Amino acid sequence: MALDLQRSLKTLLLPALLLLAVYMLQQPLSDQLMPLGEILARLPYALFITGMAFALLFRHSREFFNLLILLLCVAVLDVAVWSATPHSHSTLIHALLCLLVPVNLVINDLWQERGILNRYGLQRAAAIATQLLLAVWVVHSPPGALVDSLAFTPLPLLAASPIPALAQLVILLCSIVLLIYVFTHPAPLQGTLFIGFISLVLALHQFDTPILSRLYLLLSGLLILLALLFNIRQLAYYDELTRLPSRRSLRQTLMSQGSRYSLAMVDVDHFKKLNDTHGHDVGDQVLRMLAAHLNKVKGGKAFRYGGEEFTLVFPGKLTDETRAILEQLRETIANSPFRVRHKSRPAKRPEKPRPRSDTPDLSISVSIGVADTTTADDPQAIMKRADQALYQAKKKGRNRVVAS
Ligand code: GH3
Ligand code: MG
Ligand code: MG
Repeated sequence: MALDLQRSLKTLLLPALLLLAVYMLQQPLSDQLMPLGEILARLPYALFITGMAFALLFRHSREFFNLLILLLCVAVLDVAVWSATPHSHSTLIHALLCLLVPVNLVINDLWQERGILNRYGLQRAAAIATQLLLAVWVVHSPPGALVDSLAFTPLPLLAASPIPALAQLVILLCSIVLLIYVFTHPAPLQGTLFIGFISLVLALHQFDTPILSRLYLLLSGLLILLALLFNIRQLAYYDELTRLPSRRSLRQTLMSQGSRYSLAMVDVDHFKKLNDTHGHDVGDQVLRMLAAHLNKVKGGKAFRYGGEEFTLVFPGKLTDETRAILEQLRETIANSPFRVRHKSRPAKRPEKPRPRSDTPDLSISVSIGVADTTTADDPQAIMKRADQALYQAKKKGRNRVVAS
């Protein structure tokens, strides 16, 4: 768990601006949308079901169940509250939605990703179905204590919203939990979780103006879909272990390069031996450390080509200009001892450091082959030349840079 304030704030910014725009424009927007009432009424279903299909396809259970919860919420509102003949207990139904939907969304957001079409997914679906049945039972024979507590308003200020005071308290607690989660688990577009939640709360707050309520529900679903698409993009273009752009990104970068650039293939020396001696986990740590070094190379863009091979692209620079940079990278890596981090490593730094023998330093080196646009025409040929140069570097004894 890492607290990265700046990154978390950034992920909140875009969705927050979207929500603010809808909030500021809600009156003109609802006037404009009035003639589209029928379409707007169907739009949430289309969006939520499409999103659920995507989430199912890419096995993202959080987005799938969040959209399912929103789908059920809009369906209940449509049938029991907004229909031409609303249910006689429509106020109670709205109050139950205000209690259950936010809690379910937050629990779902915090839930570990464990798939949809398996027993974990079934458990989640069963939990939602149980609540639905309980809600139906409550609506048919409302228990006095629950109705009283939903009607209880300790402060006149809280009566300004149609959301019952008890639900307001629950929503406040849920918001705090979600905000803490967003700040302690930074990830791309993580802020959409919180802003999507606030948008849902606004939908429940505006429930007596169906157009506005639908608008906020749509926004909430849209943010979930946005996060899902962004996630899928990350999976396609970024390597999970090192967080560097992947081979697919490299291909696209090369296609958009001008007529002057150089390309370097970087390969870890004797990596198989390191894996065999210290284990695959240590090998993974080494790859992450190397990725961090490569990311710092000036004027170059780093990619994980695959396995223990990386690629650096230097737009606008020929080998003459990149050779020294690559030499420096090679030297920095060779001179940076890599400290093995044990799995049993305590979360806090111990007062007395471990004995050095317990955490051996490893020496890592890389071999580099580099080629540029003066040696070949198309990206594939340049990469082949860089690969041949890398082979020469290995043959000459490793831990060196060879230009094609
Ligand atoms: P050379 O100096 O000639 O490059 O020797 P090498 O051992 O580095 O090369 P070789 O191609 O024989 O071995 C590459 C090894 O990289 C084999 C494979 O197990 C390991 N490897 C590939 N991907 C990963 C990964 O994601 N994590 C870890 N830990 N190891 C990986
Ligand atoms: Mg290799
Ligand atoms: Mg190697």
